Amino acid sequence: MLKIENLHASVGGKAILKGINLEIGTGEVHAIMGPNGSGKSTLSNIIAGRDGYEVTQGSITYKGKDLLAMNPEERAWEGVFLAFQYPVEIPGVNNTYLLKAGVNAKRTHQELEELDAMDFLKIVKEKAKLVELDQSFLSRGVNEGFSGGEKKRNEIFQMAVLEPSLALLDETDSGLDIDALRIVANGVNHLRSEERSVVMVTHYQRLLDYIQPDVVHVLADGKILKTGDKSLALELEERGYDWVREEAAA
Ligand code: ADP
Ligand code: MG
Ligand code: MG
Repeated sequence: MLKIENLHASVGGKAILKGINLEIGTGEVHAIMGPNGSGKSTLSNIIAGRDGYEVTQGSITYKGKDLLAMNPEERAWEGVFLAFQYPVEIPGVNNTYLLKAGVNAKRTHQELEELDAMDFLKIVKEKAKLVELDQSFLSRGVNEGFSGGEKKRNEIFQMAVLEPSLALLDETDSGLDIDALRIVANGVNHLRSEERSVVMVTHYQRLLDYIQPDVVHVLADGKILKTGDKSLALELEERGYDWVREEAAA
């Protein structure tokens, strides 16, 4: 699904990613953990195609294609989805309308017929139920006046409707209460399939109790310093990150 080789990137002339190598197989769920400021959001944003980043070296291959040569909309049409660490409010743009435009743009790209309002509403209602999002949120402005947890849940709702091939979740669990965390995890687990891959950026092992990752990576100082299985997340929770840095330096 995704292959990142020797990726170097900078923001405003400052080097942030310093040689990332990462391979994500189809159907796999990976967790990326790491200290604040290590480049996790930078990596997620670069994969999704957000501007403001300069890739100075390396490559990203997605479904066999050069991802960095694609613009953000093409990436989305091809099934890349990013749940933002800080979801933006878009006042005046209806939540359902935005999603309908997104779904139909993707369908047009796949040479499928656009969904009509009735069919779309059916899907939206079903997915809203899945993430226990009250119907009233469907007709509100995108994230307009939503609480922090509601914004995160809305990201998962968008993901459920768009059914991406590669879902990147940037700290979707941060700031969620226990119930919201379970709901977000349900949404991700529902999406989990042999055709899809998920990358979860998280600080907390707690999320990984609900969504069992196949692989856990530690990103620190712009590099993947260690890769392991689920037990690595437990070890990090217990021991922090310094030992990983020391081990990598040695
Ligand atoms: P993480 O998500 O791992 O906490 P980020 O990828 O958000 O880390 O940030 C990595 C580093 O890049 C930080 O030092 C951050 O301050 C810096 N950075 C990110 N975006 C910008 C920007 N637009 N301008 C300047 N520095 C930035
Ligand atoms: Mg952070
Ligand atoms: Mg971040």
